Amino acid sequence: MKYIRLIITSFVVCIFSSCQDVFDMHEGDEEILESALYRPYDPPAYIKEYFSRIFDSSESKTGEYYKFLEVASFMYEDQLGHELLEFLIENGVIITFKIDPYLSGMAMFDTSNWTITFRDIASITQESVEEEILHAVQLVLCGASTMSRSSKNIEFEVKVFRDLWEAVKMNCIPSSYFGISGLEREGYEDEYKIFIACLYNWGWGDFFNDKFKELSEEWKGETLQYNKYFSPYLISTFWPLKESEI
Ligand SMILES: [Zn+2]
Repeated sequence: MKYIRLIITSFVVCIFSSCQDVFDMHEGDEEILESALYRPYDPPAYIKEYFSRIFDSSESKTGEYYKFLEVASFMYEDQLGHELLEFLIENGVIITFKIDPYLSGMAMFDTSNWTITFRDIASITQESVEEEILHAVQLVLCGASTMSRSSKNIEFEVKVFRDLWEAVKMNCIPSSYFGISGLEREGYEDEYKIFIACLYNWGWGDFFNDKFKELSEEWKGETLQYNKYFSPYLISTFWPLKESEI
């Protein structure tokens, strides 16, 4: 009981003490992104060179690809983002970058041919780039057959990872969450928030696996195939960060 109270206290303190600055930061970010639509991005040579090691693109001179590089350069500058990119390079991953105006969603990662497809330039956002690159990291860790057998777990794991990553970026537990659709049973949201707070503050322990499975199964964000044997390797490989990195 004492443990739970400690978690909730730290969670509430975090929300009320340090999130305000973060909202301001996000408004600023939107302005920067908006203005990027009006001026073509000219990536610095080191960014072009770096991403040419991961992305094979016949569209490498297009505005779409440069917009992608502009968004992805955030990952290059971010500690955890950089670690994920280095992991892809170390594993010899080459991803094909594609634009398909007929894509039904904003973006998708195809596990059969290592291709990230965006619908159009407006679909290339920090959210969509992070999401699809995390799926590529999962593919290295899990393999294609596990990805397809555990599609709901895969999606849920990426959402959890992005909530944790958001917390690191903001140095605060987030105020909105990727891993909650709002359609789950009563009480789910509170449990999920405590789950994220635990992973963020103390690492996972035994709490991690059991709670991950329970929340993943109940998550209503995607109606995909759930696999109770799935191991969330993405989170356990890249989380927790060493204390000095937070
Ligand atoms: Zn996804």
